Amino acid sequence: MPDLQQIKSTLKEYFGYDTFRPLQQEIIDAVFNHRDNLVIIPTGGGKSICYQLPALLLPGVTLVISPLIALMKDQVDGLLANGIHAAFINSSQTESEQQDIYQKLLDKEIKLLYVAPESLSFLDTIFSQIELSLIAIDEAHCISAWGHDFRPAYTQLGYLKTKFPKTPVIALTATADKATRQDICDQLNIPNAIQHLASFDRKNLSLEVRPGNKRIEQIINFLKDKPNDCGIIYCLSRKTTEAIAEKLQQQGYTAEAYHAGIDHHKRSKVQEGFINDTVQIVCATIAFGMGIDKSNVRWVIHYNLPKNIEGYYQEIGRAGRDGLPSSTLLFHSYADVVQLQKFANMSGNQEVQLAKLDRMKQYADSLSCRRKILLSYFGELIEEDCGNCDVCKNPPTFIDGTIIAQKALSTVTRIKEQEPIGTVIDILRGAQNAAVYDKGYQNLKSYGIGNEISWRDWQQYIIQLINQGYLEIAFHQNNKLKLTSRSKKVLFEGKKVSIAHLQEFEKIKEVAIEQIAKSSTPDLFEKLRLLRLELAKEAGIPAYQIFSDATLKE
Ligand code: ADP
Ligand code: MG
Repeated sequence: MPDLQQIKSTLKEYFGYDTFRPLQQEIIDAVFNHRDNLVIIPTGGGKSICYQLPALLLPGVTLVISPLIALMKDQVDGLLANGIHAAFINSSQTESEQQDIYQKLLDKEIKLLYVAPESLSFLDTIFSQIELSLIAIDEAHCISAWGHDFRPAYTQLGYLKTKFPKTPVIALTATADKATRQDICDQLNIPNAIQHLASFDRKNLSLEVRPGNKRIEQIINFLKDKPNDCGIIYCLSRKTTEAIAEKLQQQGYTAEAYHAGIDHHKRSKVQEGFINDTVQIVCATIAFGMGIDKSNVRWVIHYNLPKNIEGYYQEIGRAGRDGLPSSTLLFHSYADVVQLQKFANMSGNQEVQLAKLDRMKQYADSLSCRRKILLSYFGELIEEDCGNCDVCKNPPTFIDGTIIAQKALSTVTRIKEQEPIGTVIDILRGAQNAAVYDKGYQNLKSYGIGNEISWRDWQQYIIQLINQGYLEIAFHQNNKLKLTSRSKKVLFEGKKVSIAHLQEFEKIKEVAIEQIAKSSTPDLFEKLRLLRLELAKEAGIPAYQIFSDATLKE
């Protein structure tokens, strides 16, 4: 086993670093001690060196399983440039190219061999003729149906340990909760693997969640104070990536779409442009980002709700790798929840996916420190609230929400539980639109009884009522709001409801009233109208969602 001196000089000579990052050294030690290892280090934390450095000092070949065929060549080129003998085998090569590599393997001229899991079976013969010193499985979460990016070809990898029982295995991934970690070890037949868990806390990332209405306008506002910062907008569908890229181009940004349906050549151009700072914004599906090493991504927006917390955390983790403050923004909409539930229902492991989606939704709905929720999801507990998420920055105070609850519940009762959140709010606020008029809701006793509360605050209040079990969404009936067994207690038994008070719009209102007081315009009503438009623009929402003219006049 090499000594520390040797290990450190290899780190310097081949990788140019003087010190190890957290966990790297203990992982490398464990590899040299023939232990199996499961490494969980966030993206950018330096997982590669944990197998690349041992590969240089071990006598035989290190096999690296990697799902990213597209990036294999880049990785190998990078290693070759550092004087490390590496090669890859995948389906993109000709037979003679592959023969060439087999020969080099036999001649002991290769230290690291990258292989896609699909190509592994072709290598059986060659493996019986060479010494395999280490098996590295990158993006190991792909093996688990509990993980967020399951790949069937990965499930065959368990046979490696059976076939090479003496060769240590190192499985690496950026994100895996406890269940996934266990599953990875079970499936890879490495029950005694040492689990190396790095801290997941990325303090420099601010966390924010907003309701997903008027998202484009909100994004344009969000970008106003970051005119040159580069960032990624993650979307659920390919179509959305293109639509947003186009809208942002119209605003003068260099924005490009990126998804698996775009041809390979164009895709790598977008990726290169982003890395070289000539493309400022990439609007992408989750196909974008794996393996991209760019340290100055200043923000990440999720246009749609991600399907689970692992994916979300990995994606926001692409911001601020240089440690500088960076922003993340997640749009939360129930339409997305429904869409994702449909996807989950179509997949083989429906129950798992629905449970994960539920956790994601709880995170987005949370009224307590978001970072605490995120970290506890990965098994890490922090004592203090983080101070760098929207909830910490604007903590709710709880008020007696009984009247608010009664208004909402009685409205749902009067419309016989036949409408989704949006229409219920329209009725409460006395909106004059088709959703209301077509069904004669303007004649209900409930019409306009919640006019003093802004549209967006109503949305939040109703979400709170849902979270507290006073209402539920019938996802299979066009998201109609339904009463629950608890609703009765509020409506008929005088049960008190405690609710987090929302201040955002009160603050806006204060500012507005202050400005109106100062203003010298004689036409007060016109002034009010303009101001409301201004405020709505500021908040990135339609003017009618701010508050009614009547409220403003007060
Ligand atoms: P991961 O696979 O965990 O996402 P990588 O292995 O790709 O991370 O490493 C991310 C970046 O960190 C790379 O640019 C790498 O060169 C750098 N890095 C890794 N280890 C160290 C170290 N000990 N000191 C400084 N930089 C390092
Ligand atoms: Mg990596």
